[in-house]
Amino acid sequence: MRTIVAKFGGTSLADAAHFRKVREIIQADPDRRFIVASAPGKRCPEDVKVTDLLLECYEKAATGEDFEVGLSAVGVRFGEIIEDLGLDFPLADEIQTLRAHLSDAPRLGYVLSRGEYLNSRLLAAYLGYTFVDPEWCVCFDEAGHLDGPMTRRTLGAALRPLQNAVIAGFYGADMAGNVHTMTRGGSDVTGSLVAAAIHASLYENWTDVSGLLAADPHIVPNPKTVKYVSYRELRTLSYMGASVLHTDAVLPVSDLDIPINIRNTDRPQDAGTTIVRKLPRGETKYPIVGVAGRKGMSVIQVEKVMVSDESGFTAIMLDILKNRQLPFEQCLTGIDTVTLVIRSDLLAPCKDELFNEIRQKLNPDYLGLTEKLSMIAVIGERDTESSDANVQVLQALAREGVPINTANQGAGKLNLLVGVPEDRYEDAIRIIYAAI
Ligand code: ASP
Repeated sequence: MRTIVAKFGGTSLADAAHFRKVREIIQADPDRRFIVASAPGKRCPEDVKVTDLLLECYEKAATGEDFEVGLSAVGVRFGEIIEDLGLDFPLADEIQTLRAHLSDAPRLGYVLSRGEYLNSRLLAAYLGYTFVDPEWCVCFDEAGHLDGPMTRRTLGAALRPLQNAVIAGFYGADMAGNVHTMTRGGSDVTGSLVAAAIHASLYENWTDVSGLLAADPHIVPNPKTVKYVSYRELRTLSYMGASVLHTDAVLPVSDLDIPINIRNTDRPQDAGTTIVRKLPRGETKYPIVGVAGRKGMSVIQVEKVMVSDESGFTAIMLDILKNRQLPFEQCLTGIDTVTLVIRSDLLAPCKDELFNEIRQKLNPDYLGLTEKLSMIAVIGERDTESSDANVQVLQALAREGVPINTANQGAGKLNLLVGVPEDRYEDAIRIIYAAI
């Protein structure tokens, strides 16, 4: 029997109209048995997420201020859903319990978790499914870190006997019963943990977009939706800021080869993007799945004659960065040169000191800095035959007169990373998209 875990994000459960759409989606496929729900999100751009209202309540309560305005806004959001769907739900009692908690030594994890807790109870009631409180089966240690292996066992034991259930996303508890939340957007992680715990056939992640786009739509008009992306490609896309999924949501399912399908609740007819280890049979592997990038990069260039014959030069350079806890994005070594790509905002506070130290310890022939660069990743796992896609990209940039400051393609051929001036970033993205 196939089992699908379907996670619905905040915009997918923001109001009663969306609850109806969600129920239709769930009822359209009996394999959708385990549902993970977020707290109500924004209904329009100016709206406030319930989690943010709860955060405001906590902050006010913790400093002894009046939190009633925020709390009543939370009550109104849930009240509207309950009334519109005609549910029988003790909302006043739940709000009173939260009020009592806020008035007496409030705990951040508990307060923030109430959005998911209440929304999941409502969804369970609306679907006629069992409600599963992650307080009992998503396990944290006392320091507030998620215990993955224990969670998998406990969640598995809790869910296996059930025909179907709604599990609240975003939180769990430690052995002492203290509620802890994940980082924001953490219901994606809960969905992934549930899918892993029950060895689901598929993890559907329902949101407000029809999957990952091959380029930023603010730069490229109507970019294509990526049909398949590998877990590794997704990691680069999200690192470059093109994320629709919490980064911690990949590992629990990728270990077990469970595909993740990103879908749009408002357009269930769209196939969305599927994140897989290997493409299904018969699907063509495109050498490039997308292009994404970041501005605000600097490049440090260190040159010293015969450096390629000297062992330890690069190691000293990297040690200098490590001791300053200054992370670098890329390190390219060539004959007589070492090039480092570093985020400008991290470099700025220590630039002069860093340059002095490099001069002192490495005595370079030349030490240069280029600022206002952007890094563009041309993403796609390529095999040897298709690696000429990279050549096409570089040729297209050169043809259009975009200066290429750095170009980096590791032996793994996962990505091509190109450094171009910030003021040509948008041009470069459009040129690359057209070329691929
Ligand atoms: N409600 C939480 C947030 O707004 C968690 C989630 O939606 O996944 O971040």
